[in-house]
Amino acid sequence: MTVDAAPGNPGEMAIRRAGSAIARAPDGIASGPFWAEPLLEGRHDGEMTAIRATFDPGIRTRWHSHPLGQLLYVLHGVGLVQRDGGAEEEVRAGDSVWFAPDERHWHGAAADSVFAYVSIQPVRDGTAVHWMEPA
Ligand code: MN
Repeated sequence: MTVDAAPGNPGEMAIRRAGSAIARAPDGIASGPFWAEPLLEGRHDGEMTAIRATFDPGIRTRWHSHPLGQLLYVLHGVGLVQRDGGAEEEVRAGDSVWFAPDERHWHGAAADSVFAYVSIQPVRDGTAVHWMEPA
């Protein structure tokens, strides 16, 4: 059995300064480009990944799921969230949303508002997200 020696979450307290990792999200995971700032980059089972994401009005992710679930905390603006089989729900700054492990869902900005959130999603089997078809 091999042990993956790649670094995951820091082994001690770590401060990441505001704006030091701002980047465009990878192409193809949403209906348009958005900003994704990695806050925590876990790699090993049970470690956390976290990002701050900022969407322009009307931009939404593809359908997707998270192997160990996801907590989303709304920082700014108005967003829409939907779980497979449920209704679209509006969320606003200060609201938080839990998506259960393997629950199909999407999240994005309302048509007339930007949308920014922090999300936390742990890793299982090397990933924190499984992308699916456009929402
Ligand atoms: Mn999600």
